[in-house]
Amino acid sequence: TKLKLIDPTLLKDQCYVDGAWIGSPQTDVTNPATGAIIGRVPHFGADETQAAVDAAAAAFKAWAAKTAKERSKLVRQWFERIMAHRDDLALILTAEQGKPLAEAKGEIDYAASYIEFYAEEAKRIAGETLPSHRADARILVLRQPTGVIAAITPWNFPAAMITRKAGPALAAGCTMVLKPAGETPLTALALAELADRAGIPKGVFNVVTGGAREIGGVLTSHPAIRMVNFTGSTEVGKLLMRQASTTVKKMALELGGNAPFIVFDDADLDAAVEGAMVSKFRNMGQTCVCANRLYAQSGIYDAFVEKLTAAVEKLKVGNGVEAGVTQGPLINDKAITKVEEHLKDATTKGAKIVLGGHRHALGGTFFEPTVLSGVTADMLVAREETFGPIAPVFKFETEEEVIAAANDTEFGLAAYFYSRDIGRIFRVGEGLEYGMVGINSGLISTELAPFGGVKESGNGREGSHHGIDEFVEKKYLLVAGL
Ligand code: ADP
Repeated sequence: TKLKLIDPTLLKDQCYVDGAWIGSPQTDVTNPATGAIIGRVPHFGADETQAAVDAAAAAFKAWAAKTAKERSKLVRQWFERIMAHRDDLALILTAEQGKPLAEAKGEIDYAASYIEFYAEEAKRIAGETLPSHRADARILVLRQPTGVIAAITPWNFPAAMITRKAGPALAAGCTMVLKPAGETPLTALALAELADRAGIPKGVFNVVTGGAREIGGVLTSHPAIRMVNFTGSTEVGKLLMRQASTTVKKMALELGGNAPFIVFDDADLDAAVEGAMVSKFRNMGQTCVCANRLYAQSGIYDAFVEKLTAAVEKLKVGNGVEAGVTQGPLINDKAITKVEEHLKDATTKGAKIVLGGHRHALGGTFFEPTVLSGVTADMLVAREETFGPIAPVFKFETEEEVIAAANDTEFGLAAYFYSRDIGRIFRVGEGLEYGMVGINSGLISTELAPFGGVKESGNGREGSHHGIDEFVEKKYLLVAGL
C-alpha cells in the first residue's frame, strides 16, 4: 500500500551517507495499525557504518570552521523545509509508528522547534575570559564542537528524538551519524532528505539503518566518535556505556522512566484528570515521561478514579489516520505482551479492573485503555515502566509517604503532582528525585527547557541553552608573556 504523499520523493528506501543515497532496500517497514508493508530500507552492518563515521569525520573540520552565522542559516533552512513538509512527515510517522495523525503533526512541530531553537542558539555559543592568577597572563575558555556524534534513537518519537540531538549538534559545529529505530526509519530518512535540500554539506548528517548490534558496535568503538547520544531503554543504554568505555567517549543518555503522577486532596480534580489523560495516554502510553504510577490521596481517591474512568471511556481506538481516533495500536507484539503481563500480575495481587483490561476487538496490537484501582507497591506496575495504556491508581495518606513511594525506584526522569498549596508545591517539588517535575501540568516537554533524568534514567540534557553543553568541549587557553 502506497502512502498518499504530496511529495512522494520524501519516502526513501536507501541510507544517506556523505550526501549520497546508498544501499539496497532490504528490510520491510510495516504499519502497526494494518500490518501493511509501507517501505523498505537497507540493512547496513559494521563496514557501511565505518564508512559513514569516516565521512562524518572528514566533514567535521570544514563544518566546525564555518562561522556560527553560516551554520545558523543552514540549520534554519532545515527547519523551514521540515515545516513546509509537515503533513507528509506526519503521515509517514503515523504509518510507521501508529500514533494518531493529529499527534504526529504535533510531534513534527515539536521536532522542528528544536531545529529552529538551535539555529538561533548557534550564534550564542560564547566562550569566556576568567580572572587570571598572573599579571602577565589571561585565562580564556573556548567552547569548541565535541566532534563526530553517534546518535541512536527510539521508535516512540521518530522525529523529535532525532532533532533534539541533531539540532544542537549541527549548531555547535559537530557532525553526526544517526541510527534510527528499526521500527521507524522512514521518518529519519525523510528528515535526511530535507537536510540535503536545505544545503547541509555532505557528511555532516548521515543516517544508517540495519543491524542494531553491528552498527552500535562501530558507533561505540570508532575512535573518531567523541560522544554517544542515545535515547532508549536503560538496558541498551548501559550496554552502550560499557562498550564506549574502552575509548572513553562522552555519553548523553535519556533512558527509561517510572513517572509518578500524584494528586493531593487539595488539587483541582478536573485539571488533575485532564493532566493525567495527556500524561498517561499520549502515544498510547508509550513515552518515557508517561505517568506510570498514579497516586491519589485518600480523601479524593474514589472521586479521582471515577472522573478518570469517565475520561478514559471517551478515548477512541483505531487506525491513527482515521478522524477522531485518539489511540492507535501499540508498536509491536512485545509491547502488548508486556502490558498483558503487568495487568495479570496486578489483578492476581488484588488490583481491580475498573475499565478495559483486554486486547481491543480491532485485533493486532490494539489494546483497550485501562484503569486499575486498588494498586499496591508489590505489583510490577509499581516498579517497571509499562509503556502502554494502563492507568494504575494507588491510594496514599500523607505527603511524606507519597514522596517516599515516588522516589522508591531506580529511575528519575519525570514526575508530576497536582496541588494548590504553595508550601506543598515547593516541598514536594524539591523532594522528588527526578530530572523534571510537572506541577499542575501533565505535559512538560518543550524545546525551551532542559529535558533529562537522574539516577538510572540517564544523564545530559536536551533542550534550552543547556542542551548545547553536551556538544561543546571547554578548552582552556592560558595566554602568558603579555
Ligand atoms: P525499545 O525496547 O523501546 O525498542 P531499545 O533501547 O531496544 O528500546 O531501542 C532504542 C534504540 O536502540 C533503537 O534504535 C534500537 O535499534 C537501538 N538498539 C537496540 N539494541 C542495540 C544495541 N545492542 N546496540 C546499539 N543500538 C541498539
